[in-house]
Amino acid sequence: MITVKDLQKSFAGARGEVRAIRGVCFEVGKGELFTLLGPSGCGKTTTLRCIAGLEQPLAGEIVIDDHPVFSAAGGIFIPPERRNIGMVFQSYAIWPHMTVFQNVAYPLARDLSRAEIGERVSRILDRLSLGQLSDRLAPNLSGGQQQRVALARALVAQPQVLLLDEPLSNLDAKLREQMRFELKALQESFGITTVYVTHDQEEALALSDRIGLMHEGALIEIGSPAELYLRPAHRVTADFLGTANFIPAEVQRDGSGPWYGMLLATPLGSFGAQRSVEWQQGMTAQLFFRPESVEFLDEAVATADNARNHCTGFIERVTFLGSSADVIIRCSDLKVRARTHPARAPAVGQAVRFRVAQSSCIVFPSRTMNS
Ligand code: ATP
Repeated sequence: MITVKDLQKSFAGARGEVRAIRGVCFEVGKGELFTLLGPSGCGKTTTLRCIAGLEQPLAGEIVIDDHPVFSAAGGIFIPPERRNIGMVFQSYAIWPHMTVFQNVAYPLARDLSRAEIGERVSRILDRLSLGQLSDRLAPNLSGGQQQRVALARALVAQPQVLLLDEPLSNLDAKLREQMRFELKALQESFGITTVYVTHDQEEALALSDRIGLMHEGALIEIGSPAELYLRPAHRVTADFLGTANFIPAEVQRDGSGPWYGMLLATPLGSFGAQRSVEWQQGMTAQLFFRPESVEFLDEAVATADNARNHCTGFIERVTFLGSSADVIIRCSDLKVRARTHPARAPAVGQAVRFRVAQSSCIVFPSRTMNS
């Protein structure tokens, strides 16, 4: 449905040229919700604005539903109003002096009859549970209702593509979580192809069919939320998405032939791990695993002291987070982060033995090409 190819965009900055996006490529399937995720300033909004036609890229190509809307080589630039796109910004940008009805009717073509406009607006307001509020002035609505008005206005002209730029970031934490599910359910019921921009990892994991992780103007990696979280191919992804343990490591055996994993010597002991896509022989290695992969072992489970992927340590800190507990384990000079059920969290000062399954351990180079 959407193809973005080799997109480049620079801005003039106070200290010279800012390369906001550098050769970004991705495709979004019909009805898919694709999220651009990354830290502030990595180029997410610029990419979205290029798709909308609000920025003109320097190079590359954008195709929507088989129609090129931008091509540097072909000299094509279709203006935003002819791209058949609905957009919701972080600020909602709804008109404060207009009612809900007037706000939502605003983007409809002037050649529609009053009856047709009334019918279209009422239909979309009902689908977004805003029917009762149609005569209310927009500022007299709650944050969640204003967000839905912005969404109704983006959808009323029946666009082919919906572009959402941090649409939930103005809401408080509880409402934001609730709106995530509402937004996903609505997007699925409309079946509308959506590009979503956020720096909130949890939001991206909860909402997306696929995520594209951006870093310093480049798209580093694309995958389903589970793929990127559990099996990141790049260190940047492992680091940005959720909490990560990175442990310095020395490669003892780089498995090829009959043994495909890697064997590492680390300050925690000997570890079997999987090779990341980024890893190349001769690099300095780091062992990665997520806190929830740490499995505390019962004292009754007798394992040899030097068993592979097993470690010992002392509990330094336990932070109660409600549905889980964040645990810091001190292992000589290193700290390891673990996640556990709060009722099963060990006590501060307790000596513990834990293991991390080989399937949850990944080897990355200790530095990325960019860092
Ligand atoms: P955020 O999450 O903070 O919105 P982002 O990932 O969306 O960040 P962009 O807004 O796309 O990032 O910005 C990418 C880079 O381009 C940043 O360094 C930003 O300062 C720069 N930039 C964006 N727009 C302009 C502009 N109009 N003029 C100059 N520099 C710009």
